[in-house]
Amino acid sequence: MAEVTLSTIVKELKEYDGEEVRIMEVCGTHTAAISENGIPAMLSPKIKLISGPGCPVCVTVTAVIDKLIELSMEEDTTVLTFGDLIRVKGTNKSLADAKADGASVMMVYSPMETVKLAKENPQHKYVFAAIGFETTTPVYAMVIEEAIRENITNLRLLTSLKTMPEVIKWVVKDGGGIDGFIAPGHVSAITGSNEYEALSKELGIPFVVSGFEGPQLLATIYSLVKMKGKSGVKNMYKSVVKPEGNTTAKALVNKYFEPSDSSWRGMGKIKGSGMVLREEYRSFDAGSIGLDEDHMPAGCKCASVLVGKISPNECPLFGKHCTPDNAHGACMVSTEGSCYNYFVSGRK
Ligand code: SF4
Repeated sequence: MAEVTLSTIVKELKEYDGEEVRIMEVCGTHTAAISENGIPAMLSPKIKLISGPGCPVCVTVTAVIDKLIELSMEEDTTVLTFGDLIRVKGTNKSLADAKADGASVMMVYSPMETVKLAKENPQHKYVFAAIGFETTTPVYAMVIEEAIRENITNLRLLTSLKTMPEVIKWVVKDGGGIDGFIAPGHVSAITGSNEYEALSKELGIPFVVSGFEGPQLLATIYSLVKMKGKSGVKNMYKSVVKPEGNTTAKALVNKYFEPSDSSWRGMGKIKGSGMVLREEYRSFDAGSIGLDEDHMPAGCKCASVLVGKISPNECPLFGKHCTPDNAHGACMVSTEGSCYNYFVSGRK
């Protein structure tokens, strides 16, 4: 790639006239960076970018939100959550609605804040909404490690932790026909680029690990167009992503968590696509196992959006009954959601 200049990449991507290439990103930060850099408008109409299931809030099933609401109404209990999740609707309401009704829900800005709160208020119970992908699971492992070190017993986690490989297989086999993946930058920093070798061979499609700068994303898309129809893995983000990943973080995760099946919004339960606390640490679990039910809001097409079957603006509610200020579905709530990014960038 080094010998190809950015101006050549820009020109060739705009003028591309070969077979259609469908490229999926599975990282909410990539989704946002692609929109912010105006990349879709720089591509030939024959190169389609599709936002896959990479936004943690968007793929969390309603049963998890319902359970958090139930916990937030228990006596002397506060549910701690990051900002985006608070606005996502469960079966009937969101955590923000529950809070308005008197439930105890509090936003935190870092996972370690939860340990501090639990330590300072030992008579009160805390439940931390621990959702996310391989990127955030090591931090949740650190929370458990710190809680054990401090002998804290009034903090539990409600987990909804996802891992990428099995959902990628699911999307390729059951989704909307994908020719290649922009492999997630943050997730890959933990898992390593080697993670994609076996996947690429099994699926017969290429994976290119990318950072978040516009020129690197363009070079990644250029590589994927050139690699269409072949398997192979390229790492364009070598400054951060090592072939073996972050072995310290992986060991920490492995100490506290084990692989499990997991339910994804609109996709159902996918074998081996998640992580749960190991049996010996289940005293820290607030009831995460078996939260599989998923009730999509009426008319919401998030399930089809997340696997690339439709673009967000093909949802009849997009921009009319569903906007960032009045989000009907989860994909419009988060700044990493596909619908949100299509809306704010005016992407077609
Ligand atoms: S525009 Fe709103 S209702 Fe439609 S798929 Fe997206 S989040 Fe769901």
